[in-house]
Amino acid sequence: MAELTRKEMLGWLSEKDPQKLEELFREARACAIRHVGPKVYFRGLIEFSNFCSKDCYYCGIRKSNRNLERFSLTEAEILECAKAAYEMDYGSIVLQSGERQDGVYAGFIEDILRKIKKMTSGKLGITLSLGEQAPETYERWFEAGAHRYLLRIETSSPALYQRLHPADHSFETRKRCLEALCRIGYQVGTGVMIGLPFQTHEDLVGDIFFFKDQDIDMIGMGPYIAHADTPLKAQISDYDPSENFRLGLVMVALTRLFLKDVNIAAATALQTLDVQGREKGVLAGANVIMPNITPTDYRKLYRLYDNKPCLDENARQCKNCLEQRIRAAGAKIGYGEWGDAPHFMRRKSAAV
Ligand code: SAH
Ligand code: SF4
Repeated sequence: MAELTRKEMLGWLSEKDPQKLEELFREARACAIRHVGPKVYFRGLIEFSNFCSKDCYYCGIRKSNRNLERFSLTEAEILECAKAAYEMDYGSIVLQSGERQDGVYAGFIEDILRKIKKMTSGKLGITLSLGEQAPETYERWFEAGAHRYLLRIETSSPALYQRLHPADHSFETRKRCLEALCRIGYQVGTGVMIGLPFQTHEDLVGDIFFFKDQDIDMIGMGPYIAHADTPLKAQISDYDPSENFRLGLVMVALTRLFLKDVNIAAATALQTLDVQGREKGVLAGANVIMPNITPTDYRKLYRLYDNKPCLDENARQCKNCLEQRIRAAGAKIGYGEWGDAPHFMRRKSAAV
C-alpha cells in the first residue's frame, strides 16, 4: 500500500460503510503483524494518585474538582502492585498519576523506581506517565530505571489545545517536554483524545502527521469521554459515543498504516464505549494493552472520565478476562517481554 495522503486519511475519517472499514482494519492488522509482530504486549497500569496541580477542562481529577476524594498509594502499596505484575509475568508496568512537580514527589518516584528494579533484578520494564516535568527530573527518573514515558500532546492543534486548558497550560511547554524525553533517551509515547468538542477531522489528520514529525515511538490515544464534573462537559451539545468509537478505531488503523513500526495501545477509553473495544483496537492495528492493576478500592477515585470500566475487578480477574479476549481475537500475548517498539531501535541506531 502506498503511503496514505492527507486526502485519503480525511476520506477514511468520514467513511461509514462497515465493510470498507473492515477492509481498512484488516489491512492495518496485517501491517502491525509485518512491522511489530503478531503479539500483543500487556503493561500493568498502576494509577497511584489522583492529586493533580493542573486544571485541564476535560479531566475528572483536575484540581478544581472538589467533588472527589483524593488518594495516594504508599510506597509499599505501589511495590506490591509491581510485584503482582511481575508474578503475573507482565513484561512491564506503567506508573501514572495526576501531575505534581515538587521535589518530594520527584524523590518519592526515584526511590520507587530503584526499588522495583532491585526487586525484579532489572527485569520488569517501567513506563512513566507523570505529566510535564523539568528535564532534570526526567533525567533523574531515567537514571533510576524508567525507560519509557507517555505524555499525550492531547491535540496537535495549538488553538484547540488552548480552548481545552486554562491560560497557564502551554502547548509549547508540552511539546518541549516530549523533545526533552527523546533527547534523554526514553522510548517516547504521545497521543491525543479523539472526538473532542471543537475538533475537526483535519485536526485528527494533523495529529498523525505530528506523531511522524516528532519521531514518536509509541502512541496511546483514545476517544474523549465526558466527565460530569468538568467545564468541558458543560459545553457539549451533541455527544455521540458510537461516532467517537468509530473515529477511535479509524485513527488507530490510519496511524498504524502511516507510522508502521511504532507501538500503539488500545486505550481503556475504547473499552468504555464498547465492551469489546480493546480487542477491536487490536484488530485495527494496536499491539499494546494496559490492564489496570490498581488496587480495586482506589480505582473508582481515579476517574478521568465517566463510566470507566472494570472498577470492581482485581488485577488477576482483569488478566484472565483480557487473556481470553485477546486469544479469541486470534492474537498471541507477549508474556514476560518488554515488547519495545522497533521504531525506537531504529531511531537510536540512526542517532549514533
Ligand atoms: N497527569 C498525566 C497523566 C494522567 S492523565 C498527564 O496529564 O499526562 C492521562 C490521560 O488521560 C491524559 O493525557 C488525557 O489524554 C486522558 N484523559 C483525561 N480526561 C479524559 C477524558 N475526559 N476522556 C478521555 N481521556 C481523558
Ligand atoms: Fe491532571 Fe493529567 Fe487530568 Fe490534566 S489530564 S488534570 S494533568 S491528571
